Amino acid sequence: MLDKVVIANRGEIALRILRACHELGIKTVAVYSTVDRDLLPVRLADEAICIGRAPSPESYLNIPAIITAAEITDAVAIHPGYGFLAENADFAERVEESGFIFIGPRPDTIRLMGNKVSAIKAMKEAGVPCVPGSDGPLIDDDQKNLQIAREIGYPVIIKAAGGGGGRGMRVVHSEASLLNAISLTRTEANTAFGNSTVYMEKYLEKPRHIEIQVLADGQGNAIHLGERDCSMQRRHQKVLEEAPAPGITEKERQKIGKICVDACIRIGYRGAGTFEFLYQDGEFYFIEMNTRVQVEHPVTEMITGIDIVKEQLKIANGEKLSIKQEDVRIHGHAIECRINAEDPKTFIPCPGKITWYHAPGGPGIRIDSHIYSSYQVPPNYDSLIAKLIAFGNTRDEAIRRMRNALSEVVIDGIKTNIPLHQELMHDANFKHGGTTIHYLEDKIKK
Ligand code: ADP
Repeated sequence: MLDKVVIANRGEIALRILRACHELGIKTVAVYSTVDRDLLPVRLADEAICIGRAPSPESYLNIPAIITAAEITDAVAIHPGYGFLAENADFAERVEESGFIFIGPRPDTIRLMGNKVSAIKAMKEAGVPCVPGSDGPLIDDDQKNLQIAREIGYPVIIKAAGGGGGRGMRVVHSEASLLNAISLTRTEANTAFGNSTVYMEKYLEKPRHIEIQVLADGQGNAIHLGERDCSMQRRHQKVLEEAPAPGITEKERQKIGKICVDACIRIGYRGAGTFEFLYQDGEFYFIEMNTRVQVEHPVTEMITGIDIVKEQLKIANGEKLSIKQEDVRIHGHAIECRINAEDPKTFIPCPGKITWYHAPGGPGIRIDSHIYSSYQVPPNYDSLIAKLIAFGNTRDEAIRRMRNALSEVVIDGIKTNIPLHQELMHDANFKHGGTTIHYLEDKIKK
């Protein structure tokens, strides 16, 4: 097994990776910024190295500092987690050039999937169903772009090829606003992602967001672990996820899962990955692939019994996938609530000191979190402070357990979105299952 791994991340995911490493007997190196000195993974790691000041460009995005940390600790591999450098192909390349194992896909795969235009092209060629669209970047030709939109049919959505985190998208309902929308999205994309390439897709009006988790060893073997439903979103950002997706049949699961597995084998995919789809009227439409472990991976772990992070480590160690597709069994139902340090009504981030923390428990409850009583949530990073996961033999049991857990958990001193999750757990439409990506936003407006 790998001897020592640098965890190039912070917060709950750093802790999650640390736990998987220690379980496999792998030594860990935590890297941290000056505000994260007292972070739980820093205290629990075998070694810890400060890599810079609080602003992420100076620490968690500081490539030379992270590689130096691996060098001075004699580590063999670097796990990027999610966010920060996880989908930065240049980082993966620098890690490999420096003689370390990057725990993720090959740099060229990350590059291919990091640009949504090239990702869609590759997936289309691999037989993955995509959203009807411009089939490539929009060029600087107004007449041509008007023509493309007419053929697709309004509404359309203009998306940045380099976009991420729910940013760089604009919906266009009529021809009158198309050209202006293209130029605005281009300018924004250039500022935000350093890439002004945009493309056009049919805007689906009532889809669900359903994604497929895959594992591949880069040696010709790949499997899928079924789907997750991540339709509960605000500003295109996931708030709550569940697996399996309500109403998806075993036949549909195996069909779309096989398409993803075949695509993985075709592109020589290595590691854990997610194919994201919009699902409407019984059809799946690929929107993008995430080439890393995702925030919502625990719901899949709960219903399959497969530890996705341990699998990532084994694949990075050069092992062949030990799980066969027929060994993947889905049992029960799992729901994850993302607990953010934010105002439940205004959604404004609310960093500060957690004066008292009490974790929930009981059958089927899992909490992935780095917080503790007296922990200071810094203002510099994402507001996710905990992921509360409830498993049940049925969806109804998972919901009831989640309700209990949400009423038990105590996070004093800062505001969190727990009240929003409590409301959702009693929402009749959520209880019914299968709401669209617009449901939460519409509910909040009311
Ligand atoms: P990002 O990389 O920023 O997460 P995605 O392409 O994954 O962007 O899209 C994020 C979300 O935006 C989707 O889950 C969905 O809610 C919405 N979205 C993206 N493309 C479309 C589309 N063609 N029609 C309708 N909604 C879309």
